[in-house]
Amino acid sequence: MSTRPDLQVLTGPSAAELPAARDLAPRFPLTVNPSPADEETYRAVMDRLSFGVDFTDHMARATWTVDAGWQGHRVEAYAPLTLSPAAAVLHYAQEVFEGLKAYRHADGSVWTFRPGFNAARMNTSANRLALPELPEEDFVASLAALVAADDRWVPSTPGSSLYLRPFMFATEAFLGVRSAHEVEYLAIASPVGPYFVEGFQPVGIWVSEDHHRAGAGGMGAAKTGGNYAASLLPQQQAAEKGFAQVCFLDAATNTYLEELGGMNVVIVDADGTVRTPSLTGTILQGGTRGAILELLRGAGREVREETIYLEELRRQIRSGQVAEMFACGTAAVITPIGRLAGADWDVVVADGDPGPVTRELYTELTDIQYGLRPDTHDWMYRLL
Ligand SMILES: *Cc1c(COP(=O)(O)O)cnc(C)c1O
Repeated sequence: MSTRPDLQVLTGPSAAELPAARDLAPRFPLTVNPSPADEETYRAVMDRLSFGVDFTDHMARATWTVDAGWQGHRVEAYAPLTLSPAAAVLHYAQEVFEGLKAYRHADGSVWTFRPGFNAARMNTSANRLALPELPEEDFVASLAALVAADDRWVPSTPGSSLYLRPFMFATEAFLGVRSAHEVEYLAIASPVGPYFVEGFQPVGIWVSEDHHRAGAGGMGAAKTGGNYAASLLPQQQAAEKGFAQVCFLDAATNTYLEELGGMNVVIVDADGTVRTPSLTGTILQGGTRGAILELLRGAGREVREETIYLEELRRQIRSGQVAEMFACGTAAVITPIGRLAGADWDVVVADGDPGPVTRELYTELTDIQYGLRPDTHDWMYRLL
């Protein structure tokens, strides 16, 4: 096994291995926001649910210093931060983040999906960025405390959820180049609606042959803002051409698929085989990717993690060997891909219709998340 943590398959503690949320939440004592959103504002937000626009009344927080370690764990009013203009994150981008969701079930309870995985992944990312690890139980505790304080912000309309965004960054006011001695951890929350307002529509993907998001030995396997910064220009250029997202190729040979800016990519062949790029250290290990592969393998399907060469894939799409293609990540769960194009080529995947495997996976995974199917994998963790 590799000594590089970014090449190891992450699991983290399962829902059953974690202490109950009510026992973890007190680790982040609550100071109630004295001026929470009024009823009118709250109603307006919950009626228009979009992605990452509105935030709840509180945020979870802890501070790390090289001398004292983690301290000051708390939940307090959501508010702007005070930061030195010399804060290291603003200059050297020492930052990592996570993304998960809290789901309201029909009986009113609130659950999240594999928080132990996200806790473990944040620490893998933190290691790469020379940031301190946050104990996994504290990560989960911060979410339990935040959601307990902001219960009213967990929507209950179909397909909606409370998006949780934990993140950690270097606050030390110092322009010298080394890992910071002062770090802040925060978790904020945003009520979000169903990602597909116009239904489960396949999107067009632009394959970037002149920009890359990550290279060997770089930060590709870390969930860090820097990787997103690298993806913004090609993303903007693709959007101008009418494409929804960019798929990146490996930086070394520019020949095989890695992933989208914030989603992993999966191919379903006409013979039923499922393929996805293997974890090479330059792609981010998605929790959605992992869950989907587990569901497919559990259903007896052949699943391969391997190198997927663009040239071969284009041929296989044209010949009909590829039946379905989709991208996956927490925010949208599954995004069907109906078209793939690059500088001098353009192919349509399966007449641009999301196929049965894509649809069934979307239903199966979201049913588990919303408590509509049994959680046989022990993925769901009760927050409230
Ligand atoms: C977050 C992220 C994903 C998806 O991960 P999930 O755990 O499924 O949400 C994929 N690629 C990148 C680059 C990401 O940052």
